[in-house]
Amino acid sequence: MKLVRFQSILLGVLLSVANIFSLPVKAEGEPLNEPVNGKKVYLTFDDGPIPVITEGILDVLKEQNVKATFFVVGKEIPQREDILRRIYNEGHSIGLHTYSHKYKKVYNCDDSLINEMLKTREIVQNTLGISPTAIRFPGGSSRHLTKELLDSLHSLNMKVYDWNIDLYDGEHEVPPVSQIIKNGKNFKPGYKSLIILAHSNSNNSNTVKALPGIIKFYKELGYSFSAIETDTPEYHYKMRKSSSDDK
Ligand SMILES: [Zn+2]
Repeated sequence: MKLVRFQSILLGVLLSVANIFSLPVKAEGEPLNEPVNGKKVYLTFDDGPIPVITEGILDVLKEQNVKATFFVVGKEIPQREDILRRIYNEGHSIGLHTYSHKYKKVYNCDDSLINEMLKTREIVQNTLGISPTAIRFPGGSSRHLTKELLDSLHSLNMKVYDWNIDLYDGEHEVPPVSQIIKNGKNFKPGYKSLIILAHSNSNNSNTVKALPGIIKFYKELGYSFSAIETDTPEYHYKMRKSSSDDK
C-alpha cells in the first residue's frame, strides 16, 4: 500500500515536471498588457497593396467602422500609390513587410532584412510623408529574430509584430469563406489583445467575404478594433539565441 502511494506521488511529481517543460512557448510580452480597459483586436493585412482585394478590404472596414493595419510590401507600391494613400487617409496604420518578400533574399542575413524594411519605409515616406515603425517578418519572426537583430531594429525605430490568430488565408489553396471565419474565431481566452493575421494578395477574395463575420463575432464579445500605433506594445515570438544558431 505504502509503495503504491509512493509510486503515485512519484508519478505526480514526474507529471508536474513534465508539464513545466511542455508549457507552450510564450512570446515575449505575451499576453499583451495594455493600459486600456477592455479587449482589443488588431486586424492586420499583409502583402498589399493589391488592386481589388486591398480595396475590397478597405470597403468592408469602412462599412464596419473598423481600423486596421496594413503591412505593405515595397515592390507592390509603384503604380498603386493611390491604394496606399487610401489606406492612410481612411485612418488605418501602415507597417513594413519587406521590399521583395522573397524569403531567400530577405533572410540571407540581418542586414538584408533591415535594408528591405528601410527601402519600403523610404517608399512610404516619399508617398505619404510618414515613416512607419511597425514591421512584420514574412512568415513571422520565429527562427529569424535574435537579440542582436531586435536591438538593430529598435535602433532604427522599428517594432516587430507577429500574430496570435491566423486566418490561414495566405496559403496557395485559400480556404472557403466559412473556414476562414472559423479560423478567425480561434482565439485563446488568455489573450487580452488579439492580433489577427490576414492577407491581401490577389487570391484573397474569400478574406474580403469572411471579414464581416469575423468582425461581428468580436464586436459581440465586447472587443474593440484598433490599428497598431507607435505606442502599441511590441509582440514577437521567442527569439533565437544568436545569429550563429541554425536557421
Ligand atoms: Zn507576407
